[in-house]
Amino acid sequence: MKRPHSKKSGQLKEIALERINELFSQAEKVFRKSPDLADRYVELARKIGMKYKVTMPRQHKRRFCKHCYTYLVPGANCRVRLTGQKVVYFCHKCRNYMRFPYSPAKTK
Ligand SMILES: [Zn+2]
Repeated sequence: MKRPHSKKSGQLKEIALERINELFSQAEKVFRKSPDLADRYVELARKIGMKYKVTMPRQHKRRFCKHCYTYLVPGANCRVRLTGQKVVYFCHKCRNYMRFPYSPAKTK
């Protein structure tokens, strides 16, 4: 695959972000029917993120396991707990925890 060098990196990052957003919304759609496909979309989104060095948008950071990269759906394949100032996600697949700072203002 050829890498387009003609475009400015800012533009590329915007396109990359769009694709990441798109992949996560696809993952959400297909999760119930095929969780494996949702995981695949997460993998693709991560690869795009790494290639273009874009940080994963914060709303997506909690949607996949940072240990095994499974697409996470609270109540389906992960458990969410609030402990003090942290939100703790427990991935059912790899049985690892992820912790995020808890900020009510930014939580939907
Ligand atoms: Zn996991």
